[in-house]
Amino acid sequence: MTAEYQVHGDVAVITMNNPPVNGLGYATRSAIASGIDQANADPAVKAIVITGAGKAFSGGADIKEFGTARATQDPNLLSVILACENSSKPIVAALHSVAMGGGLELALGCHYRIAAPGANIALPEVKLGLIPGAGGTQRLPRVLGVEPALNMIVSGEPVKSDMLAKLPGQKLFDRMAASPESLQEEAIAFARAVADTRPLPLVRNMPCKHPMGDAYFGFARNMVKGMAKNFPAPGKCVDAIEAATKKKFDEGMAYEREIFTALMFTPESRALRHLFVAERAASKIADVPEDTPKRTIERVAVLGAGTMGGGISMNFLNAGIPVTILEMKQEALDRGIATMRKNYESQVKKGKLKQDKYDERMGLLKTTLSYDDIRDADLVIEAVFEDMAVKQKVFEMLDAVMKKGAILASNTSTLDVDKIAGFTRRPEDVVGLHFFSPANVMKLLEVVRGAKTGKDVLATVMALARKIRKTAVVSGVTDGFIGNRMIEQYSRQAGFLLDEGATPQQVDKAIEKFGFAMGPFRMGDLAGNDIGWAIRKRRAQERPNMLYSRSADKLCELGRFGQKTGAGWYDYQPGKRDAIPSKLVEDMIVEHRKSLGVEPRRISDEEIVQRLVFALVNEGARILEEGIAARASDIDMVYITGYGFPVHRGGPMLYADQVGLFNVAQAMKRFQKNPRDDAKFWEPAPLLLKLASEGKTFN
Ligand code: NAD
Repeated sequence: MTAEYQVHGDVAVITMNNPPVNGLGYATRSAIASGIDQANADPAVKAIVITGAGKAFSGGADIKEFGTARATQDPNLLSVILACENSSKPIVAALHSVAMGGGLELALGCHYRIAAPGANIALPEVKLGLIPGAGGTQRLPRVLGVEPALNMIVSGEPVKSDMLAKLPGQKLFDRMAASPESLQEEAIAFARAVADTRPLPLVRNMPCKHPMGDAYFGFARNMVKGMAKNFPAPGKCVDAIEAATKKKFDEGMAYEREIFTALMFTPESRALRHLFVAERAASKIADVPEDTPKRTIERVAVLGAGTMGGGISMNFLNAGIPVTILEMKQEALDRGIATMRKNYESQVKKGKLKQDKYDERMGLLKTTLSYDDIRDADLVIEAVFEDMAVKQKVFEMLDAVMKKGAILASNTSTLDVDKIAGFTRRPEDVVGLHFFSPANVMKLLEVVRGAKTGKDVLATVMALARKIRKTAVVSGVTDGFIGNRMIEQYSRQAGFLLDEGATPQQVDKAIEKFGFAMGPFRMGDLAGNDIGWAIRKRRAQERPNMLYSRSADKLCELGRFGQKTGAGWYDYQPGKRDAIPSKLVEDMIVEHRKSLGVEPRRISDEEIVQRLVFALVNEGARILEEGIAARASDIDMVYITGYGFPVHRGGPMLYADQVGLFNVAQAMKRFQKNPRDDAKFWEPAPLLLKLASEGKTFN
């Protein structure tokens, strides 16, 4: 049983107890229902209180039951709410800490509600691409008024109980308790006071109207359209709430259910639910149990104050962890610190950071040119030049000076972390921490697990990632790790598409329409085309037979590195970031095609999207097969949090699942026949073929 039943004099108290947030799983629902029956059958009981143990009233659906038959097994949430409404003795919901989703819907089915101050109240279903499915859209507008309820349901954001209690005419809370500590006692006293009231009040019987009627809902629909262009759920929330104002209660409930069920099958909701579970899964490492002892990280050192070093440092300063940055030269240090200051100052100007917080953060920062000043750090993150010889010198030095037990991390994007670990006599302390640029903004952190990386080191950095608010995904050692190894194939396809007849703007537009934040060419201009150029030069030595389009090299030979040089795949006006199609680049591409003897052809947007996205999928399948990524959903997390992959598609692997792996493999076989493409690459990965033949999916 995951709810306790106790009788306090003439009041029965049902306390949900399903840690961590009293999720309304099958056992909890059953226990509430039988508690209500028991109380109704006991002549000594006059009234009932429902509350939650520990850290919540209830957080809503139990995520352990997500997607399983248990989630709807009887008694389902609707039946439990009905049991509350039908109770012949009054039920008082006592809300504290967190009352969200199904938890709030349960409370709305009770006759009365009392809340502790500071409780977070929300109907967050929209964040999973759904609408509330157990009466939330029909009952919340009745107690709060249409507008405040609509704002809560459409945004999914929590609002404090104290704020809601102040809304004029609200009937959500009949009482506010003085404090969370006194809530239960006050709830029992309140239940006793209303024990003899009849008829019992029901939210379903309350009126629901908006004075402006249709005009208001028209306005609400427009507002929602702008907010959530790729998601149907917010608009459907408006429909359901409008129904609450126009239909009889039971008809409104049926309409809500119809919408809820239809949304459950949309790819957008599938994507959001997938990512919700994927984020939690990514933090788990199969052979590193939750209780693995962790090292203490109280002081961090960062080597290099360049593009990455400054941003990386800011993450720790923001979390209140002192950082010492070490550089080779004072000028580089000064430049790096000035950039960090500028960044914080712009946050202060925009009102996103208070001046005293800024001072506090900068107060945690020290700088040095000497290893003597960092030897006591618990974690050192190297972000120096991407050159193995430089990394060797640095890691030999770290090995010599750092205290025993310090974690030695590298932010390398492409170099072999095992080789780097081999420069030390403590490879178990070495790990890759691959931040993404700008490192203080981007959510993704690839944690690169070397062959000898200690389990306690992994457990420590995964916990630390949470502290600095990153989404950490573990990658094995491979060139480019998960994200960059896949993006290389995507970029190669973008290049081939130019050779065959597409323009940079056509490719960018097609993939942006698919939902990417930025197409490959606009992205290249933003990040700097010279970075890829340097990598291709290295590749030319390592893998001389690899096919790729030379157009990007030709662009760099013209000095067109992107926004920073005022020109790249596009032209840029001084100080502006708008990408203007370039005649010069177009001519260059045409010339290049001629030199290859290629007759350009019209390429459809569909082909562009398939080639770019399926290139990610095929490489992703290989990465999964090699065990570089532990799960397909980890790959999806990398792409959503680090590469601007459209959230409503759920990541490349989920997208492939939704297209159908058989169809994906067929497309790859078609691409193999294109003489200008890399037939070997398009050989579908064995894992992809196996899953397709078994009718299975990656996720
Ligand atoms: P950067 O050139 O902007 O900065 C490197 C800094 O390291 C310079 O300020 C340099 O003075 C300093 N440095 C060099 N050798 C040093 C030494 N021996 N001791 C102390 N300081 C030293 O480079 P960056 O873009 O910040 O990249 C740093 C690392 O991060 C590289 O390994 C790179 O591959 C990786 N990385 C870069 C990005 C990116 O987008 N720029 C993204 C992820 C990872």
